[in-house]
Amino acid sequence: MVSPRPAVVPLAAYAPGEQPRGDGWVKLNTNELPFPPPPAAVEAIRQAAGERLNRYPDPTGLAFRQAAADRLGLTPDWILPGNGSDENLTLLIRTFCRSADGGGEGDLIASPHPTYTLYRTLAEIQNCPFEAVPLNGDWSWNWDRLEAVRQRAKLFFVPVPNSPSGTVWPKEVLERLIPDDGLLVLDGAYADFEDGRLGLDLLEGPRGDRIVLTRTLSKSYGLAGLRLGFAAARPEVIGAMAKVKDSYNCDSLALAGGTAALRDSDWLGETVRAVRAERQRLADGLTALGFVVEPSGGNFVFCTHPDRRHRARFDFLKERKILVRYFAFNNWPDGVPDGLRITVGTAEETDALLNALAEFPG
Ligand SMILES: *Cc1c(COP(=O)(O)O)cnc(C)c1O
Repeated sequence: MVSPRPAVVPLAAYAPGEQPRGDGWVKLNTNELPFPPPPAAVEAIRQAAGERLNRYPDPTGLAFRQAAADRLGLTPDWILPGNGSDENLTLLIRTFCRSADGGGEGDLIASPHPTYTLYRTLAEIQNCPFEAVPLNGDWSWNWDRLEAVRQRAKLFFVPVPNSPSGTVWPKEVLERLIPDDGLLVLDGAYADFEDGRLGLDLLEGPRGDRIVLTRTLSKSYGLAGLRLGFAAARPEVIGAMAKVKDSYNCDSLALAGGTAALRDSDWLGETVRAVRAERQRLADGLTALGFVVEPSGGNFVFCTHPDRRHRARFDFLKERKILVRYFAFNNWPDGVPDGLRITVGTAEETDALLNALAEFPG
């Protein structure tokens, strides 16, 4: 067989959360919205499907970029649509990071730890060195560990709110993460649940040339199946990424649906309010069952139990067709060894989860 690039051979494929087949699952493992997307988005997709599937989509996605720019108070040249925000993460790496394939060292990519593990996978695909900066046990930053990485990183991926913890680091903290000679990528996959403008003050501030914000319609808009996100950054950064992307990286259905979704701010406001109220009920219920629940700005909570039987609870729930996410953390000297991340579902799903956990043999 023809060999792949040497860097690809040892790769372990990224393992996303399980998507179970069949009905009857209470699915609280991948932070999807438990509700359908904005009706206006579904209608726009129907229309686009009826009208123009024989034509290529707008390669620049201008209408969508305008809607995204309006939401953030920017102009369209600050916005790049992506096939899910994961594509924009890949595009950032391909645009800014030299691979070690040519024999050089490659540019350093970094993230905190624990966090979204796709960053490491994407760095390995590009054959770039990767460093994870272990957080303190309370999910705050360890400035001593950060410093060497901050000085050398070309791309520093930091989700706010973080996953799996839900931690929202304040602006003064984020400011201290900006690399000396690279970009701070604030991955706002869950930003809408906290504040859709998270990171915008940094992007518009004096060091804004070192900031990239990414957003997705997969979580807060209930459009995970559509695959659409966007990056917001200075036009020089966006322009460089636009040279690397596929001409038609977003299809016309996604662009039409996404544009309508972003324009429906009433729908988003109501949805976020509902998710936050249910998050509080979930956290209270878990606390009553003896769990320690991390404060979360996302549509999920991370929790641990003093008896540490997290894996057993995960299995117990799964046998009852309730799917949550079990996380075990390697190389986290100050933190917990493992825990559970639970997506905020509907009220019925929260009840099913809490009732099942109450039956877990103590
Ligand atoms: C879900 C998620 C993404 C991916 O979003 P898509 O737009 O679905 O690709 C990116 N970053 C984090 C932290 C996420 O949780």
